[in-house]
Amino acid sequence: MIYTDTRDSSVKTDFRTAVMNGMNSATGGLYIPVSFPKLDSSFINKNPEPSFRDIAFNMAKPYVENEIPDEDLMAIICDAYPFSPKVVPVDSTSYVLELFHGPTCAFKDFGARFMARVMSYFNRTEKGTLHILVATSGDTGSAVGSAFHNVPGLDVTILYPEGKISKIQEKQLSTFTGNVRALKVKGTFDDCQKLVKTAFTDADLRKQFRLSSANSINISRLLPQSFYYMYSSLVVKNRAPLDSKLENPAILAVVPSGNFGNLTSGLIAKEMGAPIEGFVAATNSNNTIPDWIATGDYNARPSVETYANAMDVGAPSNYERIKTMYSLEQVRSMFASYWLDNEGIKEAITDCNTKTGYTIDPHGAIGWKAWDDIRSGAMESLVNGKKNDYKKPGLTPSVPAWADKIVSKNAVGIILETAHPAKFGSIVAEATGREPVIPESLAEVMNLPDQAIPMENNYAKFKEWLKSNLAE
Ligand SMILES: *Cc1c(COP(=O)(O)O)cnc(C)c1O
Repeated sequence: MIYTDTRDSSVKTDFRTAVMNGMNSATGGLYIPVSFPKLDSSFINKNPEPSFRDIAFNMAKPYVENEIPDEDLMAIICDAYPFSPKVVPVDSTSYVLELFHGPTCAFKDFGARFMARVMSYFNRTEKGTLHILVATSGDTGSAVGSAFHNVPGLDVTILYPEGKISKIQEKQLSTFTGNVRALKVKGTFDDCQKLVKTAFTDADLRKQFRLSSANSINISRLLPQSFYYMYSSLVVKNRAPLDSKLENPAILAVVPSGNFGNLTSGLIAKEMGAPIEGFVAATNSNNTIPDWIATGDYNARPSVETYANAMDVGAPSNYERIKTMYSLEQVRSMFASYWLDNEGIKEAITDCNTKTGYTIDPHGAIGWKAWDDIRSGAMESLVNGKKNDYKKPGLTPSVPAWADKIVSKNAVGIILETAHPAKFGSIVAEATGREPVIPESLAEVMNLPDQAIPMENNYAKFKEWLKSNLAE
């Protein structure tokens, strides 16, 4: 596969370079494959559907062709995924796609574990340590730290906004030892991301260290996230006629979004033939993308804090990829978008629990509410000309190409549940009246000592720290 760059389409490079560089420091652009090959229809139409690992292997293959042999790719996939995504029906037309069965209980395990193994594979023939710098709004850091922990030749420095993530998230981040460490930055997620981005474009620093990113800007995190869209849409395609009594319902993927890496992966799966009719981009008050879809103007802004804090992103990096792949009109035909403020998030957790019995986390809750609102009247009102003010929470006033499938009640939704509810236990308990059960992997981490290193929101200080603390 040839990879190009979102800012300069004359760039042509291979998978190895795209993965190891993270982003193109010469242009500041993001790597993107030049094509998204379709899977064979005989593979897609299997009933029962192929296994998650088979899907993962077949989807990854074209992107690593000639660089990773089949046996090695299969070994990477088996080692990355000792767990699977789970499709859980919650009513006759809604499925929750549980993406939290990995070691850190969030969907980022899918991307991070694949990336770590691919980087380690390519790094075997390089000299010296490869330094990963990663900014996190919560779940990225722990997924990346866990995925790279004790991987030889690799070293990870995580930056997170102090006091702006949940207690469990902070524990997960601050208790790593050995080749993984966390810096708690006095600032926001966007500040952390800026420090990391500045480091990547710092020629002086790059002379001393081999640096790479692990944020969702890295293509090796984005590609594997497309696997579970394919998997879940095939599962749902096969079972929805039985559950819903609809013959051939449209399948919509509802995606709680922050940096829009997850949604971009969904677009890749659709390109590759996943039977997904369209997407609902669901955000919290950091509604930069819903505003763009409503008005056509893209205005990045400082992030604001919410209960769904892994989505507190005011300047989503993957906007640049989406814009390179599609026109605004194409985006509007594929996407509905929807956002909730904090009060709405809490009500959504309660609402999901009351209507379905399912305990959902604050991120997934936005997806649940978006889907439930859209199917029970919001889309029909919009189609009939009753436009919601885009500055108020709810469905953004832009009608996707698939709106008629909703109005005629011929659609089912897959809601991506991106984190385990216990990671956000206090708000979930307030909303449902019950503490969610804490999975064992989370309980263990609560007893480990906190090792995070304090860091000011200042690039010169950050650079100085890197220079005097990292091994070359
Ligand atoms: C990272 C994260 C998101 C947002 O995913 P993006 O790819 O940044 O859009 C949503 N929910 C949870 C729990 C996350 O950790």
